[in-house]
Amino acid sequence: MTIHGSCVCGAVRYAIDGDGFEFQYCFCSRCRKKSGSSYAANLFVYTNQLSWVQGEEKVRRYELPTAKYWATCFCEDCGSAMPWLSRTGKAWIVPAGGLDEAPEIRPRKGIFFGSKAEWYTHADALALFEEYPPREK
Ligand SMILES: [Zn+2]
Ligand SMILES: [Zn+2]
Repeated sequence: MTIHGSCVCGAVRYAIDGDGFEFQYCFCSRCRKKSGSSYAANLFVYTNQLSWVQGEEKVRRYELPTAKYWATCFCEDCGSAMPWLSRTGKAWIVPAGGLDEAPEIRPRKGIFFGSKAEWYTHADALALFEEYPPREK
């Protein structure tokens, strides 16, 4: 099984051979700021499973000096979250929203839930629409 991922502008593409070994949400304040959302959905794969298909030179990395593990990568053109190699070099952390196909593994834990945004609301509690909601008059 090979799954692919890309950025929103299409300049960067990558491929993952096989499945992830972990899939988790992170609700920490850094991931919230980085994603602009309530949490980061991260797939973890081993170092040898990921390869860049195109645009690797457009991938920028930022390491927060005060953080032990946290880093981020993004497309320099469109800002999309990109896979980043862990500081230990043992795994790629793949922002799952960038995947173009689904891995077999499903999210199974959420970490730093104690740091979640005060406004965080589980999607099950929202009015959900398949696409745009009907226009309000
Ligand atoms: Zn891009
Ligand atoms: Zn986090």
